[in-house]
Amino acid sequence: MGSKGLSLVKMDVDELISKLNEALADEWLAYYQYWVGAKVVRGAMKAEAVAELTEHADDELRHAGMLADRIAQLGGTLILEPKEWFDKSGCGYAAPTDPAVMKILNQNIKGEQCAIEAYSHLAELTKDKDEITYQMVLEILKDEIEHEDDLQTLVEDIKAGG
Ligand code: FE
Ligand code: FE
Ligand code: MG
Repeated sequence: MGSKGLSLVKMDVDELISKLNEALADEWLAYYQYWVGAKVVRGAMKAEAVAELTEHADDELRHAGMLADRIAQLGGTLILEPKEWFDKSGCGYAAPTDPAVMKILNQNIKGEQCAIEAYSHLAELTKDKDEITYQMVLEILKDEIEHEDDLQTLVEDIKAGG
């Protein structure tokens, strides 16, 4: 990043880059978990579930792009090896080995709850220290909160018999 832009960051830049790479790993794993979940899901309200899972997959990939752009601006190195996703990720990956719609939705709700916690921490860490990253984190956090709500609403709808 330009030196003037970088001078606005009032925190340890290496630590920030490391946290953003952790979030980047989370987003790629979340993306694939949603993407492959949409391919294998079976059961009541399958079409609604596929639509929601696919939409969320797209959002997670977009989040990965936002994080990557900010890491690059900060002069950081992006994770280049997918196998590093598992080492760096805080929220991990839950394989949809059981294709039942409720199982997949609940796995993804857990993932969203982890993401909400992770981005809340990142917001606390960057507030008043790096306003640009802070605003980006809030934008992502808003999406994760919506994701959790969408999935929990869908679970309630399925329980109520669609
Ligand atoms: Fe995300
Ligand atoms: Fe999400
Ligand atoms: Mg949604």
